Amino acid sequence: AGGQSSAAAPSSEAAQDAAGSAASAPAAGGKKVGISMPTKSLERWNRDGSYLEDQFEGKGCSVELTYSDNKIDQQVKDIENLIADKVDLLVVAAIDGDSLSNVLNTAKSANIPVISYDRLIMNTDAISYYVSFDNFKVGQLQGQFVVDQLGLKPDDKSKSYNIEFTAGDPADNNATYFFNGAMDLLKPYIDAGILKIPSGQKTFQQVATQSWDTKNAMNRMQNILGSYYSNGKTTLDVALCSNDSTALGVTQAIGSDYMGSNTPIITGQDGDEANLANIIDGKQSMTVYKAVANEAVATLDIGMAMLNGQKPDESLIKSSGWKFDCSYDTKSYDNKKGIIPSYLLVPTVVTKDNIQKELVDTGYYTMDGKYPKA
Ligand code: BGC
Repeated sequence: AGGQSSAAAPSSEAAQDAAGSAASAPAAGGKKVGISMPTKSLERWNRDGSYLEDQFEGKGCSVELTYSDNKIDQQVKDIENLIADKVDLLVVAAIDGDSLSNVLNTAKSANIPVISYDRLIMNTDAISYYVSFDNFKVGQLQGQFVVDQLGLKPDDKSKSYNIEFTAGDPADNNATYFFNGAMDLLKPYIDAGILKIPSGQKTFQQVATQSWDTKNAMNRMQNILGSYYSNGKTTLDVALCSNDSTALGVTQAIGSDYMGSNTPIITGQDGDEANLANIIDGKQSMTVYKAVANEAVATLDIGMAMLNGQKPDESLIKSSGWKFDCSYDTKSYDNKKGIIPSYLLVPTVVTKDNIQKELVDTGYYTMDGKYPKA
């Protein structure tokens, strides 16, 4: 276990998932795969890029991997270059889901199939499949965590709690799914006055974070703490953050600017290294972990099927022998040009109490604070 430099995923279970599945997809040697990732500045995409690259190379494909520095124009250029380089397949995680219609039309004209990776690309009929985690479920898990931690009951109004929300980038189609998923669980308590929002900021637009940026999230939370919590009496009980990059900024703001003596519940998503360290230190309460090593495996098998001239569908899940849970969904994701067949993996809640079992024992993460290969 561990240490094999060629494995895309870390040791043990994760690696078995990867190896087991990759074995089932027939090779398509000589094919070229273009992978367009949004940015290196948000941790997970480094892992996605490297896992995807290893998976496809393991099948004899050559890979061109680009990162676009969270700049929309740069991503368009990067994809144009991949098309000019005659890739046979494109795997794209969009910075702005609405800005790729033109360049993906070019891909379509060149008969290059496109997989929309993690984030749904809107307004285009050029994409064949969407691979992601169940994004609404991610938000629901965060909401449910808050309900459980506070022991909320719909008809118990004897106590109320203060909550503030921090959501993601409006250009990312996932961001509203996360927010709406959390609201699905929490809105009844807000409506009943059991959860109160001292800032009054409760719509997605009000709580969104440009570029999912840690600093932006920190600045906004510092403003909120300064404006609504500085009297020393108003307690912040919950900071519902859609992901780890925003949770990191919110945690910093609370560390520097919050006067209360309690430790607020803080949610997150991804299992970024800094956030896992904060979870171990008791500064962040949970993260919704998404095993991107498995997302890469699913993408490989879908991609290889397409490169081999097949049209994957639900049966791929069985024939690939994936060891992770995944559903095939042909109803939920409408990109305004049609409903995109989606493969949705299942996220997991990680806290201080189960980090060892979920992340370390499975080989995804090592207790010295690192992902083995990213
Ligand atoms: C991903 C999240 C990630 C966020 C910021 C979303 O599209 O699904 O996992 O935290 O982008 O990188």
